[in-house]
Amino acid sequence: KFRHTAPEPRENPLPGVKNIIGVSSGKGGVGKSTVASNLAVALARLGYKVGLLDADIFGPSVPKMFGVEDEPIYMETVDGNDLIVPIEKYGVKVLSIGFLVDRNSPVLWRGAMASRALNQLITQANWGELDYFLIDMPPGTSDIHLTLVQTLAVTGVVIVSTPQEVALADARKGIAMFTDEKVNVPVLGIVENMAWFTPAAHPDERYYLFGRDGAVKLSEELKVKLLAQIPIVGTICEGGDSGSPIALNDSITGEAFLDLGRSVVE
Ligand code: ADP
Repeated sequence: KFRHTAPEPRENPLPGVKNIIGVSSGKGGVGKSTVASNLAVALARLGYKVGLLDADIFGPSVPKMFGVEDEPIYMETVDGNDLIVPIEKYGVKVLSIGFLVDRNSPVLWRGAMASRALNQLITQANWGELDYFLIDMPPGTSDIHLTLVQTLAVTGVVIVSTPQEVALADARKGIAMFTDEKVNVPVLGIVENMAWFTPAAHPDERYYLFGRDGAVKLSEELKVKLLAQIPIVGTICEGGDSGSPIALNDSITGEAFLDLGRSVVE
């Protein structure tokens, strides 16, 4: 069904990395980058060495979520190789495809160009020793996904979806791509994001804006683990906009992302 078959990776481009985890979604705008950023911070808070590569060529938002969009990028020479130095913030080493393009001009990546740029961010960067290397993948199912899972020994993917039917339908397609026998990447589980909304003044009430338990049902149907249900919370959105992910906070929401980190590691 898919064009590519998975060749044996020639050599491991990330010898110091123990686990490579893709964060993917069927649809855009469901909170994939928010989950990837907060999961990265949560894993760092749990004591792991963490890297985060923003590979979302359609809307790289990790630099903004980490407040590093204006940081200069340096190279360093290691054993005669010039390597990009990932930016380190909140205990996470970060690089983004967004660093390679002008933020203010719209970019139409052609597949081959995007793959080359991503390859450079993976193989020509000094990621060093990592317990978890997270990749914020583009939404949908594309050649980029296949290239990534074929060049890297991906440990597994985390699928982000809202409970809404259109998002779930696309999440299902994403899961089908990863579990296709030729691709064969384990799905670690589903994160139901925007699961409900609770107004600050009424902490006992839950409003199911996008439907109720949609991703819960999908996880049961496909026998995939439900990793977390994250509600719609203003502080998640504000944290993303201000470059300070909510997972840094000792709040209920911060705890929810620490719990997500624990269930991914499990
Ligand atoms: P994607 O990567 O899937 O395109 P983003 O992570 O960029 O989505 O999220 C889209 C928007 O929704 C962002 O403005 C983000 O701050 C906001 N958002 C994501 N998840 C939540 C949440 N659980 N509560 C509140 N806002 C959220």
